[in-house]
Amino acid sequence: MMIKLLFTFTLLTQVLLAQNFGSMRFTNYADDRKGAFSLTFDDGLLTHTENAAPILNQYGFKGTFYVIPPYLSETLPGIWRYGTWPDFQLLANQGHEIGSHTMRHYDLTSLQWGSIDDDSTLLYELYQSKIFIEQKVPSEKCISLNYPYTLHNPFVDSAASLFYENARTLGQVANDSSLSENEWYGLKAKVVEFDLPRNSVDDDLEELFTFLEWTQNSINNHQWGMIIVHDVIPFSVLDSLINDIYEPVTNEWLTSLCDFLWARSSTKDVWVETVGNITRYIKERDAASYQIISSSNQLIEINITDDLENGIYNYPLSAYVKIPDNWNYVRSEQNGIVDTLITTLSDSGKLVLVNVIPDNGVLKLSPVTSTDVENEIIFLSEFKLYQNYPNPFNPSTVISYQLPVGSNVTLKVFDILGNEVAVLVNEYVQAGTYNEYFTIYNELLSSGLYFYQLKAGDYLETKKMLFLK
Ligand SMILES: [Zn+2]
Repeated sequence: MMIKLLFTFTLLTQVLLAQNFGSMRFTNYADDRKGAFSLTFDDGLLTHTENAAPILNQYGFKGTFYVIPPYLSETLPGIWRYGTWPDFQLLANQGHEIGSHTMRHYDLTSLQWGSIDDDSTLLYELYQSKIFIEQKVPSEKCISLNYPYTLHNPFVDSAASLFYENARTLGQVANDSSLSENEWYGLKAKVVEFDLPRNSVDDDLEELFTFLEWTQNSINNHQWGMIIVHDVIPFSVLDSLINDIYEPVTNEWLTSLCDFLWARSSTKDVWVETVGNITRYIKERDAASYQIISSSNQLIEINITDDLENGIYNYPLSAYVKIPDNWNYVRSEQNGIVDTLITTLSDSGKLVLVNVIPDNGVLKLSPVTSTDVENEIIFLSEFKLYQNYPNPFNPSTVISYQLPVGSNVTLKVFDILGNEVAVLVNEYVQAGTYNEYFTIYNELLSSGLYFYQLKAGDYLETKKMLFLK
């Protein structure tokens, strides 16, 4: 009897352990993307807010902008080619990162250690610029540094590590997805040097293709690529400025790079994010540990911690969690944030890809029935309508959208007066991600702005696109 009970108990334990519901695997990058990429802009120039940020915004990309705080002005005209605080504050509100490029852009390797109050010493340059930025942009901590002239040594790096979570320099290679403490203060970014003459947009194509190839290789190698950009100007004014400014990138060139990144991003190949947020992700990922609090067929509760400063390290980590095989949709909840997720089947069983912020409360996962799915409004955040690609377009473009659950979908195109121009989808569509091609055949339709609108259940989203003849 005793033996039989013991045997049964052992068997039960083994079955439960073998199931291991709630076990997690943090993905290399957010959303389990293959590689990462950061667009970085040096010196806080006026053309960053005038030209670069609007291009990035068109694609929903966030950039890292390293400013020299005393050189920004409150109003125009500003100092030399530097921008204004109101413009950079707006940029920060849009989710871009403002990093530090020190107080005076000195060669840091020539400075004495000094102190934070001793003007023009190493500690002063690094600390005061951070404080300056945080006073101007209080919503976000300034955690990223860029060495002026990219000059640094271990002495400078050790000073940088007192105030910053990372520091960027120059390099020909992309960064690995795991970095040592030293490597965080020597993040590598590539600058693009354009061959002369630059008489037409096409003259820059060689540098574009070389850079795209470099980026594609870094994605294939699961690395984190970065580009350094200074001024961003329309090609039409390049001629008048080419001798006065450093390696100007044209609006056209940056748009082509964004087109490439957008295409790779919509297939989940690349994660385009700020230096600060990718830093947050990687450091959290490497420091994270989890504990399964409870695990049953109805509820899995997990606690995730990372021992990092929560004021800075509060970025959501992506992780695959093992769940019972009969869960088809999963409701995830952490600290009041609710989401509904699609499940995937792997060799090791059913999995769900969740987002979870370490040290932000217990993550609760539970199964959702398809009737619940139809009725809940909570999923709205999971529906997505993407920016069309290419944009501007002539005559064809691709519009992508994502449904977390099967829905009655309409996808329509309107002209600027609200007239319906095309109906691309009007039917019940299963959960998933879809690409719709839109082509303007009609000679009578004019160049200009068009709107496309996705309706899926209660979800409604409209975006703009530009048709250029
Ligand atoms: Zn600089």
